[in-house]
Amino acid sequence: MDFSLTPEQESVQKRARQVAQEVKAKAVRLDREGRFPQEILDFWAKEGFFGLSLPTEYGGGGGDYVSYALAQMELAQACPSSAIMLHVNHSLFGMGLHLFGTDDQKRCFLPPVARGEALAAFALTEPQAGSDPSRLQTIASREGDGWVLTGQKNFVTSGHIAHFALVAARSDPAREPHKGISLFIVDLKITPGLKVGPMEEKMGLRGATSVSLDFNNAQLPDDSVLGEANQGLKLALALMDHARVGAAAQAVGIGKAALHEALTYARGREQFGQPIVQFQATQWKLADLATDLEAAALLTLKAAWLKDQGRPFTTAAAMAKKFATDTAMAAAQEGLQILGGYGYLQDYPLERFFRDAKAGQIYEGTNEIMRLIIARDLLRGE
Ligand SMILES: Cc1cc2nc3c(=O)[nH]c(=O)nc-3n(C[C@H](O)[C@H](O)[C@H](O)COP(=O)(O)OP(=O)(O)OC[C@H]3O[C@@H](n4cnc5c(N)ncnc54)[C@H](O)[C@@H]3O)c2cc1C
Repeated sequence: MDFSLTPEQESVQKRARQVAQEVKAKAVRLDREGRFPQEILDFWAKEGFFGLSLPTEYGGGGGDYVSYALAQMELAQACPSSAIMLHVNHSLFGMGLHLFGTDDQKRCFLPPVARGEALAAFALTEPQAGSDPSRLQTIASREGDGWVLTGQKNFVTSGHIAHFALVAARSDPAREPHKGISLFIVDLKITPGLKVGPMEEKMGLRGATSVSLDFNNAQLPDDSVLGEANQGLKLALALMDHARVGAAAQAVGIGKAALHEALTYARGREQFGQPIVQFQATQWKLADLATDLEAAALLTLKAAWLKDQGRPFTTAAAMAKKFATDTAMAAAQEGLQILGGYGYLQDYPLERFFRDAKAGQIYEGTNEIMRLIIARDLLRGE
């Protein structure tokens, strides 16, 4: 077994680390002001991170998914809000088009998304359908040569500013709940009958805006369906596997940032006549976090590697997502504790990591749902 990175993977990791350093201070300021991090997104687009493992013929970088996971681990250390928006472009919309789109659809939608010139969204969740998307109620009916979309999507990341979105809707209501769903490619800028809801006030990831999208007889052209009609839930779940690897990588990034800040602080802070890092209680906390973060990174890279090998990675992605996001939460919580009262202040970054890490246990499928996926696989194998 060879754990070493290829020269290409090392180079992406190094570049992402440098770029992350450059935006760190700005990310803190934007989070505090609750502002949309356009400048950071533009910078990352210029550096080629939006299309990292999307095909070069459509504006991507042609890298492997391990490189993408490594980049996310670095970028999320600086600005998790921008990392998640980049991720939706890359691994949900971009990967969806790359894996399931027709040549025409790829030519039309992929290049601006892969170059970060247009933001894209992924709209699966509804008011009554979160963990169980098979119960979604948005309807897509055939009308003339096209489709008409009616229904509401919630929690749509970047939805207020995105140019394009993949929207899941029930295209054949007569079928069983998990069948008869299609994924539609929607140009949000030109589709009539779309109302964008107000921005949700979130506890963390404050730069990554979340809105509802309300479709009311929204007209879509005939060629809006991604992949085979009525197979959309299968496609959406396949895309979620990709998304979970990225979510795990972001969590590793947040966790590493929390560990770094806690260690730095513990070295400098003195109580009882010595740096608090000298207390064994502090060292054990740091050692546990370092070990769990290493394990989280390895699980994440293994899931990405399986994807690159063309092997099944659903369970590996669920394990990585569950473990890495729980580890990031623990790192933020213990890291904050190491800073004592100062950890609770906005002057230090731990409270932000704490708020940002929490979302990872929920989005791209909650960690309870990750356990369902893992258990299902276990039971199948027995
Ligand atoms: C920051 C953020 C960004 C997001 N971005 C997007 C986006 O861009 N696009 C999008 O479509 N969605 C997005 N979401 C929505 C997210 O995917 C859902 O919130 C998530 O899937 C959970 O759905 P829900 O909130 O409706 O919770 P519910 O499904 O109502 O779950 C409530 C609780 O019940 C538990 N639960 C449910 N079913 C089971 C079960 N079978 N066994 C055990 N426990 C169960 C859940 O784990 C959870 O703890 C985002 C969410 C957040 C917080």
